[in-house]
Amino acid sequence: MKIGVLALQGGFAEHSRALDTLGIPNFEIRKATDLNKGPDGLIIPGGESTVMGRLLHETGLFFPLKKMIDTGLPVFGTCAGMILLARQITHEPKPYFCSMDISVKRNAFGRQMGSFHTTGEFLEIGDIPMTFIRAPIIEMEGPDIQILASVDGNKVAARNKTMLVTAFHPELTANLQVLQYFLAKVV
Ligand code: GLN
Repeated sequence: MKIGVLALQGGFAEHSRALDTLGIPNFEIRKATDLNKGPDGLIIPGGESTVMGRLLHETGLFFPLKKMIDTGLPVFGTCAGMILLARQITHEPKPYFCSMDISVKRNAFGRQMGSFHTTGEFLEIGDIPMTFIRAPIIEMEGPDIQILASVDGNKVAARNKTMLVTAFHPELTANLQVLQYFLAKVV
């Protein structure tokens, strides 16, 4: 198994490091030809969704990646990665990949709570550390979506058959259970 990590902007290095820790072969995706390496799964990191969205088009990665995601490439999106996958983004005219049947709201925890750390329950895993940085929440989801975690009534993790998203950053903690969940149950 080898995992491609979208490495245009944001926290891709932390994801690569977490994969290295688990001994999972991985490579960075920076340009369209990197897709020829044939990833078995894809990680879209946190960062700034507007910047990543622009870079996806500038690099020519957007359409080939969208096709791979929509035809079943397993994908794990954290924070901005979740925003990029969503079908709808509240208060924004248009989504990015539009691949996952969730509606998300950016920067949903407000200025005061821009970044915080907590412990929350993740379905089938139990309590895990959760680090939020100007995080989105899931406001609505379609019938094929399973919600995996909520914090203070806000939905912060979800999956369907081939996609896993978290509003928080598992790669910023030493706990690798969400990544292991992705590798075992989604890829
Ligand atoms: N606020 C960022 C955005 O809207 C996401 C933050 C993150 O990925 N940590 O894209």
